[in-house]
Amino acid sequence: MPNIINDIKLDFKDVLFLPKRGKAESRSDVDLNRELTFKNSGQTYSGIPIIASNMDTVGTFEMAKALAKHGCFTCIHKFYNVEEWVKFAKENPEVLKYVAASSGSGEKDFLKLKEIVAAVPKLGFICLDVANGYSEFFVMFVRKVRKEFPTMTIMAGNVVTGEMVQELILSGADIIKVGIGPGSVCTTRKKTGVGYPQLSAVMECADAAHGLNGHIISDGGCTCPGDVAKAFGAGADFVMLGGMLAGHDQSGGEIIEKNGKKVKEFYGMSSTTAMHKYSGGVAEYRASEGKTVEVPYRGDVNATMLDVLGGVRSTCTYIGAVKLKQLTRKTTFIRVTQQTNEVYQGSTSQP
Ligand code: 5GP
Repeated sequence: MPNIINDIKLDFKDVLFLPKRGKAESRSDVDLNRELTFKNSGQTYSGIPIIASNMDTVGTFEMAKALAKHGCFTCIHKFYNVEEWVKFAKENPEVLKYVAASSGSGEKDFLKLKEIVAAVPKLGFICLDVANGYSEFFVMFVRKVRKEFPTMTIMAGNVVTGEMVQELILSGADIIKVGIGPGSVCTTRKKTGVGYPQLSAVMECADAAHGLNGHIISDGGCTCPGDVAKAFGAGADFVMLGGMLAGHDQSGGEIIEKNGKKVKEFYGMSSTTAMHKYSGGVAEYRASEGKTVEVPYRGDVNATMLDVLGGVRSTCTYIGAVKLKQLTRKTTFIRVTQQTNEVYQGSTSQP
């Protein structure tokens, strides 16, 4: 007989923060920087732990340059060639400490990763990204990468449960990517029925990781700065963003004019669009698990980043945290049935 977990599991939309007394008077008093030392690599990250996703429309070199100015991080997508990496590294040495090279778990991916790491010796981070982090094969791949690169910081995922977070950490990963199905252009939950509500996944996985001195990334499902704060509040060490960073000058893809409005294409990495672009089509044995959408063109990503960072700083002042580090400790979530008043939804308003 199948098991059922009857505990209620929550998403970002199911909670709000309880305001609390605190010392920070204004947003400018709040320090969002963190210093994190990783379990297996022994390396340290110092910066604001927000990450641009390794999607080809988001994890670009241009995005990395813009985000590094804020001390934020970018997982560079896996489709740049070695020459492009070398050029980027030569021209932007100061940005290198804020980027990871991404890789899938195939042999070709591994060989390319080795070439990139050899060509860019200052690179400190690797992001191993597969749709399903639960396979034995992936665990063995993480072990192989750890053996090959003993001092590099390895991000690996995606998973949503504590025992798998621990298995990946014990296999050599430092930071575990958490999230199956919450993404803005993800259709995994529709196509497969698999997933886990993101806020609960983050709370449970953070607990499992921190017990081993490991770290986690909340990956997917953030729709606004408040969600980013909730992910940190739930215990995420890093928060990864896809859709919130799409549609900007620094995002991949062309600006298209449609009915007098400027838009940019944004798609999931398992969408039909991505599979046609990189794998010559959708293989017969698999379904596409991503959407293709058009998002409004939003100009320079700097304005969006200021909005996100301002929002998280403001959360900290509301709940009495002077530093981002204190956010989880100060967090009490209230379960809610309504997030916002939608009476003027659809009318003209500023974000
Ligand atoms: P967002 O911030 O847009 O809500 O979520 C971004 C995350 O969605 C990515 O970092 C990645 O983990 C996930 N993602 C990206 N493309 C796809 C896809 O095609 N299918 C699925 N299932 N997830 C995707």
